Amino acid sequence: MAKEVNVTCVGCPLACTVKLSIDENDEVIEVAGNRCKQGKEYAIEEYKNPVRVLTATVLTEGSEQPLLPVRTDTPLPRARLQEGMSQLAGVKVKPPVKSHDVIISNFLDTGANIVATTDLLSR
Ligand code: SF4
Repeated sequence: MAKEVNVTCVGCPLACTVKLSIDENDEVIEVAGNRCKQGKEYAIEEYKNPVRVLTATVLTEGSEQPLLPVRTDTPLPRARLQEGMSQLAGVKVKPPVKSHDVIISNFLDTGANIVATTDLLSR
């Protein structure tokens, strides 16, 4: 039996509600509500393979800043975000670190890197 899924497009401030009709094989058979082609592509991808940039903080050692804000440099599959947060909970970073420095490369074997979003200075 077909089902309907609504996806809010984030491609521009209009934030169109894109309605997807999904068949019993989990295939998208109809798309409506998008005002442009980008919205159609975004909604299908968001349904089939949702991804998010992971943002978090990690502990530091040897700095007056107790935490360093970090993020992935490319989006991760949404299903792996919790695993990523758990991994980062055990990470400690020492200064000096510059904004955009890679803290962990190939994070969770996804090809994404964890990068600093600010500098981390020594005491
Ligand atoms: S569907 Fe197109 S017009 Fe609508 S929010 Fe997405 S990018 Fe903007």
